[in-house]
Amino acid sequence: MSRVLLIGSGNKDKARELSAMLADLPWEVKGLGDFPVVEEPEETEDTFEGNALLKAKYYSEHFGVACVADDSGLAVDALDGAPGVYSARYAGEDCTYADNNEKLLDALAQVSWPERTARFLCCAAFCPLEGETHTVLGTVEGHIAVDSSGASGFGYDPVFVPEGHDQTFAEMRPEEKHAISHRGRAFTALKAYLETLG
Ligand code: IMP
Repeated sequence: MSRVLLIGSGNKDKARELSAMLADLPWEVKGLGDFPVVEEPEETEDTFEGNALLKAKYYSEHFGVACVADDSGLAVDALDGAPGVYSARYAGEDCTYADNNEKLLDALAQVSWPERTARFLCCAAFCPLEGETHTVLGTVEGHIAVDSSGASGFGYDPVFVPEGHDQTFAEMRPEEKHAISHRGRAFTALKAYLETLG
């Protein structure tokens, strides 16, 4: 019987990206929707690595399966690295992606293009049923656009222009984004690690 690998993310947008990336592994990839509803863990750590591990361990222990999880966010240089680990709730507890983007564009209204540098970061964590946990970090450098554009992807995609491109992530096709994104890079590395486990 194939081994089960749970994608421990309650964010449907991220879970969709991750199941596409992990589809060809010799594991039976499942999402939280395949298991009974459980409360999400509180992200109490102040690093991407800490929160990614916390989520992977929580779901693995709760459901008794191996689990991958990630923690990710956007770090803007002109804002001293904000919103960082608080990216999901930058504009408040129950804010929308549009609220976050609007707050970010307002905060950078007086900042010129060369100073609008930023990066997405993603820590991917794996918690096996037995043995050591494993984490990898993926990043992608870019700039924050002056306006929001594009309808693909999620979160800050409409305002992030990756280095070497002139479109936002939200204007790219999903495969184009995955090939260079922080999450794409982190999970490519994590996949390579999972392949070494046989
Ligand atoms: P997490 O669920 O705690 O990892 O929060 C991640 C938050 O960072 C998301 O809600 C988005 O606001 C932002 N984020 C992370 N990855 C991406 C991405 O690939 N595109 C756009 N926004 C992202």
